[in-house]
Amino acid sequence: MRETRSKGNFTGGFIIYGYKVENHKVVIDQDKAEMVKFIYEQYAMGVYVKDIIKALTAKGIFNRGKPFARNTVYNILKNEKYSGIYRHNEEVFDNIYPQIVDTDTFNKVRAKIDINHYGKRSTEVVYLLRNKMKCGYCGSPVSAECGTAKNGEKKRYYKCLGRKNGNGCKKSQARKDVLENYVLENVITQLQSNMDYIVNTLLEMQDDYIKANSALTRLVKEQRQTENAIQNIMSAIECGGTSNTAMKRLRELETLSEELEKQIRIEKAQSAFKLSRQEISDFYKLALEQSPQMLINYLIKEIRLFDDKMVIIYNTPKTMSLDESQGFSFIRKTYRTRFTFKT
Ligand SMILES: [Zn+2]
Repeated sequence: MRETRSKGNFTGGFIIYGYKVENHKVVIDQDKAEMVKFIYEQYAMGVYVKDIIKALTAKGIFNRGKPFARNTVYNILKNEKYSGIYRHNEEVFDNIYPQIVDTDTFNKVRAKIDINHYGKRSTEVVYLLRNKMKCGYCGSPVSAECGTAKNGEKKRYYKCLGRKNGNGCKKSQARKDVLENYVLENVITQLQSNMDYIVNTLLEMQDDYIKANSALTRLVKEQRQTENAIQNIMSAIECGGTSNTAMKRLRELETLSEELEKQIRIEKAQSAFKLSRQEISDFYKLALEQSPQMLINYLIKEIRLFDDKMVIIYNTPKTMSLDESQGFSFIRKTYRTRFTFKT
C-alpha cells in the first residue's frame, strides 16, 4: 500500500465522486468534476446547500439516480482530496488525486463549514430537532412562531400545535433559540455518555452477523470429513485393495479437499475483517464532532417537551430502520467506512 501510494497509484476502496480509476491512477471524471467545482463555487458564494441541490436537480444532475443528499454535498465540500491533497496517517500525498478545486476556494469553503458547524448551530441540526419534537402533554407537534416581546423585539417561540388548535393543552411556549440550544447540548451529552452502549450493541450485532453468516464452521466440518474419507481409501490401498473406483473416488476427494481449503481461506479472511471496539468508538466520536446532525437523525426517535423537563427517546441501533438515502447506515456503511476512516 505504501509503495502504491508513493508511486501515486490508487490504493483501492471507493473512488469519490468526480474521479475515476484508469491504469491504477486516479483521473478526473470531467462531467462530474464540473459538478464538484459548481458545488464548491456556489457554497463559497454563500448559496445554501439545499439550494445547491435544487440547482443540481434542475440541471438533471443526480447521484446514483437520485437527487444529491445533503450529507453527500457536505462530504464533497469537506473532502480535501478535491484540492489535490490526500492524507494517510501523518503523511501527505499530492500526487494521487489531481486537483479539481483550487486551494483558495477549498480553504474558503472549509472555513465557512467550520463556522456553520462549530460556531452558530447549523440550521440543519435545528431542523432535524424540530421534526422530532412533540408536546409532552398532548403529543401534538410543536412548531415555531414569531412573537413580539414587551420591548418590541421580535422573538421566535415554540408552541404546542394542539394548544393552538384549542385541544385544551396547557403547554406554555418556549423561546426557540434557548430551547434548541438546550436540546442540542443535551442530546450531544447523552450520545457521548451512551457511547459504550451503542458500541456494545454494534459489537453484538457484528458477532451475530458473523455467526449467522459464517460458512466457516460448515466448511471446516466438511473438510474434516473429506480428509477422513481420503485416509480410509489410503488405508485400503495400503492393504492392497486398489480398484479403479477407489482411485477415482480418491481423486474426487482430493479435488474437493483443495476446493474446501480455498473456501476456508476466503471465509477466514472475511471474518478477520471485523471492526474492533476502538474502531467503532472512534468512528462515532468523529461523527459526533463532525456531523452531529447525522447521528441525531439516526439515534433520536422523539423528543417530548414538557414545561419543566424533556424526555429524549432514542432508537436502539438494533431496531432503527436503515435509510440508505441519508448516506449512512449502521452496519453495512460502518464496514465500508473502513476504507475512508482516516482520510
Ligand atoms: Zn400540547
